[in-house]
Amino acid sequence: MKTDPGNYKKIKGVLRNRFGLDIEENFVNFEVNWRRKDPERYDQIRETYREHFKTHPNREAVKKRFYIDEDFSIYLQSSHKYSELPEIDPENLLYFPICRPEEIRRIRPPKNASDYLLAMMANAIADSPRLKRIFLKRWEANPQSWSLSGYFDRVAFGEYMRKLPSEKQAICSNIPAHFGFLSEPNGACIRSPHGKVIVVSELLKVYLYYMNLGLLTALTDDFPQVDAFTALSIAVRMMLQLETPDFDLDPRGKIPTDLHDLCTSMAEGQLQFVIGHEYAHALLGHLDASAAYRATVILVPTESGEAREQYVPEYEQEFAADAASLLQVGLDPAALTALTNGATWFFLGLEILNASAKVLRPDMAKEDTHPDPISRIWRLRRELLARKSPDRDFTAELYSDTDVASWIDRVNSIKKVMLEAWMPERLDSLRIYGSIYFPTFRGPALIDRFDY
Ligand SMILES: [Zn+2]
Repeated sequence: MKTDPGNYKKIKGVLRNRFGLDIEENFVNFEVNWRRKDPERYDQIRETYREHFKTHPNREAVKKRFYIDEDFSIYLQSSHKYSELPEIDPENLLYFPICRPEEIRRIRPPKNASDYLLAMMANAIADSPRLKRIFLKRWEANPQSWSLSGYFDRVAFGEYMRKLPSEKQAICSNIPAHFGFLSEPNGACIRSPHGKVIVVSELLKVYLYYMNLGLLTALTDDFPQVDAFTALSIAVRMMLQLETPDFDLDPRGKIPTDLHDLCTSMAEGQLQFVIGHEYAHALLGHLDASAAYRATVILVPTESGEAREQYVPEYEQEFAADAASLLQVGLDPAALTALTNGATWFFLGLEILNASAKVLRPDMAKEDTHPDPISRIWRLRRELLARKSPDRDFTAELYSDTDVASWIDRVNSIKKVMLEAWMPERLDSLRIYGSIYFPTFRGPALIDRFDY
């Protein structure tokens, strides 16, 4: 970033006089916003700040890190004295403190697949001011024991792996895998110079939770419909990168416990299916150039300019991975049934997502890499039921064809209301980047910078 000398002087002055930080002596992460970039929004932020500043209990703490005048604002994110910093090369300081010094050594340069995966995550944060800001807040909540690698959740991956027979388990345990970020909120199996890695977007968890909530409650009598469609909107916006990915810091509303638990456990089941799908790409050799299934591998340029190979699946391989996600696990009927039902819900949600995406983000519309969700449901069922045998069976919980058909009808009705009534009435606000909240279930509003 180039800053003109006059502005640099102003910033330096505020850091020194207001925050007591000399930038020759301190490594400081901070955000600057200039009024001239968007005067209307700036004035609005300034007004809100003044209003809250009069009464907010955290005002003294806020004053120590936020400065705003008629020209520009500074939000102080972290500061460390250079003299007390652990040894880090200046060009790697951009990763600090979100990466611990030993993590920076791991990723510059990565020496194995799991370092490679960590480097992908660290670069994604360093490249995105929004993510950086969110991660600095997470770091701040627990600076002593924070580590970036500790942040990423692996539990669900272990859970899926335990369902696999031992020879497949052995292969998969060598593939570093966890939740993280991707340019798109789904899953990916990536071939790195050090071996395969799997990432499933952590936003997918959030998406599934809200999508389930919306699908269960939309067009029912016993749940406020404005909240049901808000849930669907949050889910869709999440996937279209319109919703701020900070649900842990700024909750959108407290959903009644029973429903919350149900949506959470449904999402966990669906994630097992998605995780299995990514492991299936690896186990079926979809990433190996020499395999019979020859994957199209493209170079994905990242914001930092480095390129990586990402596997672009083909339709047949997608179907194969869907089926294998279920069939490669052991023969436990309960597990097989739960995965199959989870997959059904996953695809029902995708049907709403795909239709909404065309309206909310026509700019993102592109050639679909995956077949349409409803055909995936039927084809998956056909393949699975054909493999049914005395030693590979389902429990009575498996949805029947009639159940599935009636769910598809319902989803089509929800989709119709979403596209013809809900979205047209609030198109502008649904297309803006930010956060939306449940009208009925939101607790006291948290104020950005004051409360989190
Ligand atoms: Zn796939």
